[in-house]
Amino acid sequence: MSTALVVGSGPNGLAAAVHLAASGLDVRVLEAEDTVGGGCRSSEPALPGVVADDCSAFHPFAAASPFLSGLGLEEHGLRWCWPEVQLAHPLDGGREAVLWQDLERTTAELASDGPAWDAIVGRTARDFGRLVGDLLGPVVHVPRHPLLLARFGLDAVLPATVTARRWGGDPARALFAGIAAHAFARLDAPLTTSVGLVLAGAAHAVGWPVAEGGSGAITRALAAKLASLGGSVETGVRVESAEALASTDLVLLDVAPAAAARILGHRLPAATARSYARYRHGPAAFKVDFAVEGDVPWRGEHAPRAGTVHLGGTLEEIAAAEASVAAGRMPARPFVLVGQQYLADPTRSRDGINPVWAYAHVPHGYAGDATEALIAQIERFAPGFRSRVRAVAVRGPAAIEAHNANFVGGDIGTGSTAGLQLIARPRAAHPYATGVPGVYLCSAATPPGPGTHGMSGFRAAEAALAWLGTR
Ligand SMILES: Cc1cc2nc3c(=O)[nH]c(=O)nc-3n(C[C@H](O)[C@H](O)[C@H](O)COP(=O)(O)OP(=O)(O)OC[C@H]3O[C@@H](n4cnc5c(N)ncnc54)[C@H](O)[C@@H]3O)c2cc1C
Repeated sequence: MSTALVVGSGPNGLAAAVHLAASGLDVRVLEAEDTVGGGCRSSEPALPGVVADDCSAFHPFAAASPFLSGLGLEEHGLRWCWPEVQLAHPLDGGREAVLWQDLERTTAELASDGPAWDAIVGRTARDFGRLVGDLLGPVVHVPRHPLLLARFGLDAVLPATVTARRWGGDPARALFAGIAAHAFARLDAPLTTSVGLVLAGAAHAVGWPVAEGGSGAITRALAAKLASLGGSVETGVRVESAEALASTDLVLLDVAPAAAARILGHRLPAATARSYARYRHGPAAFKVDFAVEGDVPWRGEHAPRAGTVHLGGTLEEIAAAEASVAAGRMPARPFVLVGQQYLADPTRSRDGINPVWAYAHVPHGYAGDATEALIAQIERFAPGFRSRVRAVAVRGPAAIEAHNANFVGGDIGTGSTAGLQLIARPRAAHPYATGVPGVYLCSAATPPGPGTHGMSGFRAAEAALAWLGTR
């Protein structure tokens, strides 16, 4: 029986492990931390019994993932829960833009900007089921739906600021800018529309669901699936050198490129070593988990029912904050994402105390304290929030990296998604191969990039199995 070792138990490491085990290999996963799951874990950081997602929270990609959705993870305890409103984007003066899963309702509420939303975002949403396999894969491939993909590509290459200005009103512009800001890049840079389109299209096509009991349920289900196939996970084992990888047929590394270079040392071919050395990390997250008595006192009508709330004001304001962060300067009013997962999944709350998950976009490696700036953005749209907070847990960029070595300098994308690195990561050709026979990179530093979808793991495992077959 062939053997495989997977380093790292994030969603991609576990997806790779499951695929290899299902293909008949004897698979072992080694995880540095004491818990399984990498960027897809949950805990009770602010108050015992109040469950927060450590990282990944909303899961359109996991729900739509061609690989994860076919694994029957429900048999291993995974249950998706949808908020009533997928996303609310409040503006000053009480105005609000709302993203419903229902496309028609969204376009109706965007009034005169509705038809353009339908034409731009609606098209991606309608094509989403056919496009998802192409979108969640490497850029260099034979597309299943070349015409649809080409049509998507024409819109996707544009900067998000250009696309957003196709709408006339602040609400639609801000709504799209906030979604595109998940790119963690300057919004006037090419390709940032792609992130906005994929996430907004996914919101209409599958919603932005959360996992019942916390995101850790996703990776626990993957680990249980792996065990059912005979594989195993060992926690508390940090792999530091290639010696630990000897005497196994395949190795899959769910790590950042620099870590892969360190582990493989002189075995790494010079061309790959150069690509990994050139690989850039992006801006950071500054995470704050709140335990809140009751609900957040949002001014708007829809934010109280929204799973996600984007705080950053208008398109211009968000674009300026993102440009500042990309340039290494902390903005006074950072872009903030608030998660109210408990609305869809009440099992996370205790005795009327609810978990409110939030993070701000801050510069790479930011060493300051962004807690007050983050709370100020919430207070701006929900006056009185502060008085409802019963406990707080803060994790800045350094702590985020300490919790998961893949998030270098607090970069939760395991690599910048700015420019061509969004699609050519860590290099354009053979992104999964390290050049060391039998050793593959499978983290979010490979296509399709950040997110809990397991597709980097699945595709890296496919590449590794193809190599094994030709040996
Ligand atoms: C605050 C935050 C919010 C996010 N929100 C979302 C969201 O809402 N939706 C979404 O889809 N995604 C979200 N993400 C992104 C998502 O978490 C990641 O893209 C995803 O987890 C990447 O999976 P991965 O398997 O590539 O790596 P990771 O999940 O980063 O896992 C890598 C694993 O490898 C281990 N490891 C690293 N080095 C070694 C070593 N040398 N030896 C052994 N083990 C090692 C790490 O400990 C870790 O467990 C968010 C992330 C953060 C931090």
